[in-house]
Amino acid sequence: MAKFCTPLLLLIIIWTTWALAENPKGEGLLSCLQAGGIKNITVVSSANFDSLLDFNAQNLRFTEPQVSKPYVIIIPASKSQLQQSVVCTIENGWEVRVRSGGATLVKIYSAVTSSSPNLAFSVGICPTIGSGRHISGGGQSFMLRKYGLAADNTLDALLINASGKIMDKNTMGEDVFWAVRGGGGGSWGVVFAFKIGLVSVPSIVTTFNALRYGRDNVTDLVHRWQYLAPQMNEDITMRTQLGGINVNNTKVSRALFIGLFLGQKEGLVAKVGKVFPELGMAANETHEMSYVESIAYFNSDLENIYDRYYPSKSFFKIKSDFAKSPISKSGISGLLDILEEEVTSFVNLNPHGGRMDGILSSAIPFPHRAGSLFGLQYMVT
Ligand SMILES: Cc1cc2nc3c(=O)[nH]c(=O)nc-3n(C[C@H](O)[C@H](O)[C@H](O)COP(=O)(O)OP(=O)(O)OC[C@H]3O[C@@H](n4cnc5c(N)ncnc54)[C@H](O)[C@@H]3O)c2cc1C
Repeated sequence: MAKFCTPLLLLIIIWTTWALAENPKGEGLLSCLQAGGIKNITVVSSANFDSLLDFNAQNLRFTEPQVSKPYVIIIPASKSQLQQSVVCTIENGWEVRVRSGGATLVKIYSAVTSSSPNLAFSVGICPTIGSGRHISGGGQSFMLRKYGLAADNTLDALLINASGKIMDKNTMGEDVFWAVRGGGGGSWGVVFAFKIGLVSVPSIVTTFNALRYGRDNVTDLVHRWQYLAPQMNEDITMRTQLGGINVNNTKVSRALFIGLFLGQKEGLVAKVGKVFPELGMAANETHEMSYVESIAYFNSDLENIYDRYYPSKSFFKIKSDFAKSPISKSGISGLLDILEEEVTSFVNLNPHGGRMDGILSSAIPFPHRAGSLFGLQYMVT
């Protein structure tokens, strides 16, 4: 089954290094937009400009005063307004910066599961993420071992180029369609919509959350995990998150084994118990629910799950990496040395294998396929 997932709202941000409201280039742009019937325009001198610009920034680094600001924010109300906005911008000598529209991941989950609770789309777990760049950057989920990335499941796209021309898979050309599925947003045009391929999920899935402590215990478990998690049944995606914690002024290592099983808890506990008995997964560390509820489960701020404005904002920096061979026990222990010192930082290890091994590294721009054991995310706050 395939659907065109249409942004409900798209912010276009027109950027310049000299953001002056009285700028003559600005007058040309504004009159072109107004002539095109575009009304939702906010210039840099407007009182609500900063709140509109920053409302969906998830990383507070980008809201600091030294970060340069655009001249105008345009929210096109339709596909034709989006085309017109691009044309006016380019014709008047400005640069376009796109920000993802209203089609957040949670809106995709809701739309898909309201049509059938047994359908889903393989996207990330954080509900406020916009679909525009998430899909065009790859999009990793807790189902990637079964179904691959969001971009692997993207069947078509409507792309608006710098001349305002709208193109689909056939008219944009094979190379551009390859690039928009994982090659990054903003470089190839503005994506108005993606057609997404849906996948089957059971009525009941199981989430799990097993926290383990202690340097030797964590080192041994994580070392073993590297050999097992990429080889597990592809219905199981088991992430491990490594960090440190202060307990009564003593620094302790911790590892959180967290993830999703596309099936019921008895099956999960039996499968994990067989291949990874050292973890000692207990039934009370597993929770049955529907697939859409699992998305909410992984996000602590449930009240705001449908709200694009997510209040739990912080300053952070994340770098990604990919492992082709397991890390030695001394390497893991060295990593834990650092994480115990910096207890607000952590490292996620996200297993590949399964479907990820079956997709050619040249199929889309995301190349980390067969031979890539797991992805690493280093996060500092
Ligand atoms: C809290 C949090 C959790 C995350 N969790 C995951 C996860 O589980 N899995 C995962 O894979 N990633 C995850 N990410 C990373 C996320 O996928 C990226 O940050 C992604 O860029 C967000 O997409 P966006 O559309 O909101 O980006 P935006 O900030 O809106 O845009 C980023 C870039 O994409 C361009 N762009 C946006 N929309 C379009 C469009 N329609 N057409 C053309 N270009 C466009 C913009 O111009 C910009 O260059 C997470 C990020 C955060 C902040």
